Amino acid sequence: MLSTSEENYLKAIYKIGQMNAGHPVLTNTISAELGTTAASVTDMVKKLADKKFLTHEKYYGVILSKEGQKTALDLLRRHRLWETFLHNNLGFGWEEVHELAEQLEHIQSKKLTDRLDAFLGHPKFDPHGDPIPNEQGSFTYRNQITLNSIQEVGKKLIMIAVKNQDVDFLKYLNNIQLKPGAVLEIISIGEYDRSYKIRINQKEETVLTFEVAHEIIIKP
Ligand SMILES: [Zn+2]
Repeated sequence: MLSTSEENYLKAIYKIGQMNAGHPVLTNTISAELGTTAASVTDMVKKLADKKFLTHEKYYGVILSKEGQKTALDLLRRHRLWETFLHNNLGFGWEEVHELAEQLEHIQSKKLTDRLDAFLGHPKFDPHGDPIPNEQGSFTYRNQITLNSIQEVGKKLIMIAVKNQDVDFLKYLNNIQLKPGAVLEIISIGEYDRSYKIRINQKEETVLTFEVAHEIIIKP
């Protein structure tokens, strides 16, 4: 059985690898991501290599083995299922669920995960709109673009996810009632600052800065 810390390393390495398009992950990137010293990363990488969860070559970096990848995806699956449960069934806001799921994801009972998944009706996306890996570790892919790539006025769009999941950002979106599933209509786009004046769910009108529009993911 893996310790919580070992699981967190595998998750971090997986996450960095995803952003790196699958390239080897350097140990100092891992220590920056986890906020730990280079020495403890070296120790842990050695430990995980001994357990065959990854391979490590000096100056080249770390690559997860099949087993390491499977474990990371399983963690991601548990994390996102718990977030969905907390949000849909226990009434937690989407800005609250991540921290709790960080703890709950370490419960390693497959029976619990499978029952949770079935109880929730096998959801494909979590409250932030991120895809939930299935039991085999595959995701549901869909086309998606950020709001700020839209230039046409008058278009009606459906929000499906957020790129930025900072608590403060999610609270800001709560205030203007923007969340996945919302229908956005672009009323105008600022010529100078490229801000987006939008109508949400055919009701409220609000102005989003270009930066905020960059964090909103919509169906193309
Ligand atoms: Zn999360």
